[in-house]
Amino acid sequence: MPKACRHGAICANCGYGYSGWQICPECGRSAAHSGVLTPALWTKFRVDPSGVVLGWLFVGLVSAGVMSDIADHLIELAGYTKIDVWHSADASDANNRPVRFIIEVEGLQMRNVVRDGTMRVVLHGDANPSPAIWSLGPVASAEFDYKSGKVTILDRSGHSVAMYDGFTPLAVAALYAAGGYGDDNPIHPSAEETSKSLADSSNNWRGTLSGFRASSSVQRTSIPALPVPIFGHYGPYHRWVILALGVVLAFLGVRWSLRKRAEAFAFAAKPSAPSPNQ
Ligand SMILES: [Zn+2]
Repeated sequence: MPKACRHGAICANCGYGYSGWQICPECGRSAAHSGVLTPALWTKFRVDPSGVVLGWLFVGLVSAGVMSDIADHLIELAGYTKIDVWHSADASDANNRPVRFIIEVEGLQMRNVVRDGTMRVVLHGDANPSPAIWSLGPVASAEFDYKSGKVTILDRSGHSVAMYDGFTPLAVAALYAAGGYGDDNPIHPSAEETSKSLADSSNNWRGTLSGFRASSSVQRTSIPALPVPIFGHYGPYHRWVILALGVVLAFLGVRWSLRKRAEAFAFAAKPSAPSPNQ
């Protein structure tokens, strides 16, 4: 309530105390024009939207949470999950220097079969080290597209150098060659063995890679996801849509409540029209 109004009626224009005048002695406006504000009038028409906003926001968020949970269960029932798996497998070259494969599978699986996404195989090694310095770094990579079944071989700078139908021995040999490992410095396991392990692990990503000195596998995510990739990433995007719907619901609720309140404050009976006889 405005401070000036706490102890009685005031001019609604300037706040000068009202004492029955027709023209405000302070601002010169007529009471009929600018109005007279009384404490009762303020209380009657004042609307504090914060409670209404908080209430509806709560309702919107709770229903979004419930909806999102239901959607998660439905997607799970349909069998869709997003997977993000990380493999590491150790090999060695002809000079017994380590070579490492870092393999990442990101995609969408339906009933435990990967349907869409990519398997990225990054070869870490150093085929031609200088005598003094040896370093393990990414030297080439292969990208398997689950939808097309194609494998693209990329050189150290990420340029595509060849394409194959799946992880064939030729594709793996091309990966080795792109990394600088040729006939004079072959990698163990051979391209044939590696081809088999990669093809196996692309279909059954829970397994470790056979033929390698050591291999480990970490499953980073397995969450229900709609089959909608955004920028090649599968996420629980339906939750964001549902959250947005919850916010819209809250907004509409606030509008509805304020309108209802305004209606409640309106005068119960319209002033009757003056009778023509009077
Ligand atoms: Zn005034």
